[in-house]
Amino acid sequence: MATVKRESHLKLNPFGVAQAQLRRVAETFAIDDGLVRVLERCKKAVIVSVPTRMDDGSIRVFDGYRVQHNMARGPSKGGIRYHPDVTLDEVQALAMWMTWKCALTGIPFGGAKGGIACEPKAMSRGELERMTRRYASEIVREIGPQIDIPAPDVNTTGETMAWIFDTYSMNVGYPVLSVVTGKPLTIGGSLGREEATSRGALFTIREALKKLDRRFEDLTCVVQGFGNVGSFLAVFLHEHGSKVVGISDSTVALHNPKGIDIPAALAWKREHRTLRGLPGADEIDPAELLELECDVLAPCALEQVIDGDNAARIKASIICEGANGPVTPDADAILEDAGVLILPDILANAGGVVVSYFEWVQGLQEYFWKEHEVNERLDEIITRAFDETWQVSQARKLPMRVAAYGLAVQRVADATTTRGIYP
Ligand code: NAD
Repeated sequence: MATVKRESHLKLNPFGVAQAQLRRVAETFAIDDGLVRVLERCKKAVIVSVPTRMDDGSIRVFDGYRVQHNMARGPSKGGIRYHPDVTLDEVQALAMWMTWKCALTGIPFGGAKGGIACEPKAMSRGELERMTRRYASEIVREIGPQIDIPAPDVNTTGETMAWIFDTYSMNVGYPVLSVVTGKPLTIGGSLGREEATSRGALFTIREALKKLDRRFEDLTCVVQGFGNVGSFLAVFLHEHGSKVVGISDSTVALHNPKGIDIPAALAWKREHRTLRGLPGADEIDPAELLELECDVLAPCALEQVIDGDNAARIKASIICEGANGPVTPDADAILEDAGVLILPDILANAGGVVVSYFEWVQGLQEYFWKEHEVNERLDEIITRAFDETWQVSQARKLPMRVAAYGLAVQRVADATTTRGIYP
């Protein structure tokens, strides 16, 4: 039988992109070559096969990955992605970015990531649960509160984390709250975790506006992706008086230059599981969404959506990277020349891992915080990371991405030097 090969959303090898970013930063910040050779590799990469019984009785075998990039600053941390395009190289890139994100925000974790190459939207809840539990069993020795702590990413949710928490706990024989974060509140989740990534992104936009002497009320915004990160960011921007003129999900892109009713869009998406059909906005070509007239563009879906082909057509003056790796290095160069302020992924979407850290701490202490405490501490950490990045960027005349990566890589390099290379 002939099979139709799906075209991946990844045009460049994402791990190659992450390694090239590291080398650029190492050169700019004069980081020792030997250390760069350590940091450009992942500490451990595990590939597992995940046999799963489907509802029709057949058996399918999925490829699952868990990669730990670096643990010099603490146990590793990173999400689990379910998507047909998941590859070892994508997971390695995402793991490396997690290392830098944790270092930039100063939380005591290294970076990791996991994923399963599957089409979750075509699977039933039962199939997803069986696949998740088998994957969790296969990596049960790789994860743990002091080793490596997964969290949700694209197409995984609190429910997925609940299955992993339960599977891990059944394997070791007692409940281990801090083995995963992003859990539902009923089993040790943290208040504020669901919105944390978007809240952090909002704080970075707020700080950028202060520096530029601009106001939320005067902004028009476009948000690509309407999942965990994109939907809450659109809601927060709307609540702060900005006009959200474009939104999209994997099924449709919508535009209304007068502003889209975001609370209505959220309700529509929850009811219909798609934005398609939302009243009060026009359907446009998804590629056009990124090129709409706006002040802030927030790519909150997948990697490499802004590349050398479309970068020159981007009209936004601020790009807030809700997604990991949405801008390729050649697009970076074009946007830098055009004076676009890019709030880089490891800063702009770090709110998720910061509140995951809070959830981990609360789980270890079995003592839970109030929501305002979570949000205030998140604000403090993101604002500090923004200020440090801004200072380096201004002092050394570097783009925010290079400044953020520079700070982060130096911190990981320092930790590695301080510990020494084992043995
Ligand atoms: P999600 O699965 O909740 O949402 C993804 C959204 O992107 C969905 O609305 C989907 O329809 C949309 N999408 C997929 N392909 C698209 C396309 N081609 N065009 C437009 N929209 C498309 O995932 P998420 O957790 O919101 O993650 C989104 C991004 O944010 C990823 O890059 C992820 O790594 C990053 N991120 C997530 C978190 C987190 O806490 N969830 C933290 C940091 C970074």
